[in-house]
Amino acid sequence: MFAGRDVSPETSRMNWVQVYRSGPLWPRVLSRGEGGAAGGPRSVLDPPPPTPPAEKRNRQTWDMPELPEVEITARRLNTSLSGACVESAVAPGMNVMKTFEPPLEALAGREISRIRRIGKMPVVELGDLALLIHLMSAGRLRLFEKRASPKDRASRVLVRLEDGRELRLRELGTKQRAWAKLLPTGSVDDDEATSRLGPEAWPPPPLEDFAVLIDQPRHLHPLLRHQGDIAGIGRSWVDEILWEARLSPFKRGSELSDEEVERLHASLHVLGDAIDHYEETIGEQLPDKVPMPLRVHKREGEPCPRCGTTIEAVFFAEHQTNYCPAEQTGGRVLKDRRLSRLLK
Ligand SMILES: [Zn+2]
Repeated sequence: MFAGRDVSPETSRMNWVQVYRSGPLWPRVLSRGEGGAAGGPRSVLDPPPPTPPAEKRNRQTWDMPELPEVEITARRLNTSLSGACVESAVAPGMNVMKTFEPPLEALAGREISRIRRIGKMPVVELGDLALLIHLMSAGRLRLFEKRASPKDRASRVLVRLEDGRELRLRELGTKQRAWAKLLPTGSVDDDEATSRLGPEAWPPPPLEDFAVLIDQPRHLHPLLRHQGDIAGIGRSWVDEILWEARLSPFKRGSELSDEEVERLHASLHVLGDAIDHYEETIGEQLPDKVPMPLRVHKREGEPCPRCGTTIEAVFFAEHQTNYCPAEQTGGRVLKDRRLSRLLK
């Protein structure tokens, strides 16, 4: 019943489903996302799936690219594509283009001048026109040496270059949510998708500004992911930042002491560290399955790299958050409020 329930992202945020890794009753309920991953909806009576050994677990992830991933994507593409001439541009994906004027065909004959990033969004500049792209959950922007086959269903925008290469906005998975806008380059920063963004999470805003934006009566986990407050952080890196800061994902921003605000602000360096890591390890471009250097996200059941305590998880409908109970929640393993309520 839980597995088939339609849970909106907003509702799911309220309904925490805790999967206990160690207790005898483990697990009581798995969320829809978990059940789907295991090959079908699970019932409360199903036995727990075996946890694969840590070394065998696939570390790669289809998670949404966040600031570090989009930054390295933009840097690499900028190197490869600056000065390249566009032969044609098409958008076979339904509804992918959110603007109609100027048409995508206006890119023909133009030269790619720069590729940069705003928050989690890549921007491809071609003189006075620019493609602003939102990758959403599973979009990828990659350069290919050859043109896509007509059978290619994943490509939503194709920018064909005169030298035979092709820049493609593709969408992995089934949901078609990525989008692009063709805008005058000078107005990209004024677009509704960019003008409402908070300051970039990396390089971090000044501590005084950060202290103001974090001073809200909301849980840190959604607060740090809210692009209107601070731009670039998603579900993977928020776990890493909070672990680095030794703060509970459920602490409210307005409850932080000055020292905790400073610690959280300082912890944003994990984003810069990730970019440095990608600079050293990523070749010409980021692979589809991004090898994200995560230490706690999706590592439930493994020892905390800092203190050895078992990393715990809270599962939502389609995602999860991970934390070290010893260092982040005062030893408390977070309870499933929905389950507790239903068992009464
Ligand atoms: Zn720990």
